Amino acid sequence: MRHDLSQINIEIECTYMTKGAVMPFCKGCGHTHILRKLDEALIKLNLNPHDVCLVTDIGCIGLADYLFDKVHTVHTTHGRSTAFATGIALADKVLSTKNLKTIVLIGDGGAMIGLLHIVNAALLNTDVTVIVANNFLFGMTGGQQSSFSPLEFITQTSPYGNIIPPLDLCKVAMSSKAQFVARKISTDKDLVDVFADAISYDGFSIVEVLELCTEYAVEKNKLTGKDLQRIAEEHDHHLGILENRKTRSEFSLEYSEKILSNKKTLDLFNNFINAENLEIDFTKKFGKEKLEIIIAGSAGEKVQSSAAILCQVAAQSGFFITQKNDNPVTQGSGFSLSEVIISSEEIFYTGVDNPFAFIIVSSDALNEIISQRLFEKVNKNTIIIYDESLEIPIKTEKMYSLPLRRVCSPNKAALGGIDVLLNLTEPFPLQLFYSEIEKRFGKYDALYKDNLIKILTEKSTK
Ligand code: SF4
Ligand SMILES: [Mg+2]
Repeated sequence: MRHDLSQINIEIECTYMTKGAVMPFCKGCGHTHILRKLDEALIKLNLNPHDVCLVTDIGCIGLADYLFDKVHTVHTTHGRSTAFATGIALADKVLSTKNLKTIVLIGDGGAMIGLLHIVNAALLNTDVTVIVANNFLFGMTGGQQSSFSPLEFITQTSPYGNIIPPLDLCKVAMSSKAQFVARKISTDKDLVDVFADAISYDGFSIVEVLELCTEYAVEKNKLTGKDLQRIAEEHDHHLGILENRKTRSEFSLEYSEKILSNKKTLDLFNNFINAENLEIDFTKKFGKEKLEIIIAGSAGEKVQSSAAILCQVAAQSGFFITQKNDNPVTQGSGFSLSEVIISSEEIFYTGVDNPFAFIIVSSDALNEIISQRLFEKVNKNTIIIYDESLEIPIKTEKMYSLPLRRVCSPNKAALGGIDVLLNLTEPFPLQLFYSEIEKRFGKYDALYKDNLIKILTEKSTK
């Protein structure tokens, strides 16, 4: 891309734009029209600038961020802007003000790379407006063909003319249940109104705007702005507002009604207990120590789901948690391993450096731990709870050999090991753990715990 700023020096005076900023695009580039019209649409809607979030993609259109310094801007990776916007919009609707208007600015290159994100946002019907600046090629990287290039279009990568039909994005959006869909030309007089309607639409909306890349498309294809309508018509890509209905609820409303108000979800929230007091107990007992716990067994023996129960209970008790799972690509055979971290402080690194405990319930697990050299991180205080059938090649001061597989069954051996660990250390109330097990696995036989603890006590008194 060559941006010759001396060619153009437009002082931007509009409300939502940065005072004195200069449009960074080549002379005549359609992006200038699109951004000016977007600004006018925001002015028309009179939105609080803090209720607007522009999410930009990679490409020339992605240079828009610094032109809009009054509103929130997020610059994202190529093609992924709609996915980021979906998350931003959902977070606002579910957790925050519910007022945010999230607008994606993406080129046809980005839309091609991230097509499924657009499809997914449309299917969800999140309150996101996607503005696709379609100039039929990748501008920023030198004018290569995109999935939107018209037939016979000459680009850097189609020097004899494109022979692949262009994607009809509006049809894709409509077949993905989008209910506000428009295809416009960047110089259309009513583009401001269409943008305003799309942004104020309560749900997913998309406006594809046809425009020209003056640097790479105009000369090679002998085009003027007047050709845009012809190009659209030749490919049967209809112009105008193609869909404007409201028969679907915006996603967060569906989510609130059908998921958040669901009895199971409410029960989960009700299970949250006074985290503040727990944190004090936890800090008293463990200081600022992070509890790094490695739980390992064999595939198909509920190792990772047992670790997930531990995490769930820790999170319900107000702690920060991470869970990192590992297993061979062949699901269902070999080892299964979870690295869990529980901390009263935010966790910024998910690796295990200083293991608090190991729970090892099968030979697959032991072999993997040895081959990953995880025992090299052990210190004298590391707790090692392991099945009686295993020979552990290291020694710490806290080794507990137990008949986990025999007493609990292979499927509940990891759970039994976690149970023993929690009984030994009590980082949070055990009752939470048992009730969570019952919810997920059905009744947890208290005999497992009683038997294991009895064996433990007998061993320690010998
Ligand atoms: S899209 Fe084309 S005309 Fe516009 S700024 Fe980029 S290279 Fe220049
Ligand atoms: Mg483009």
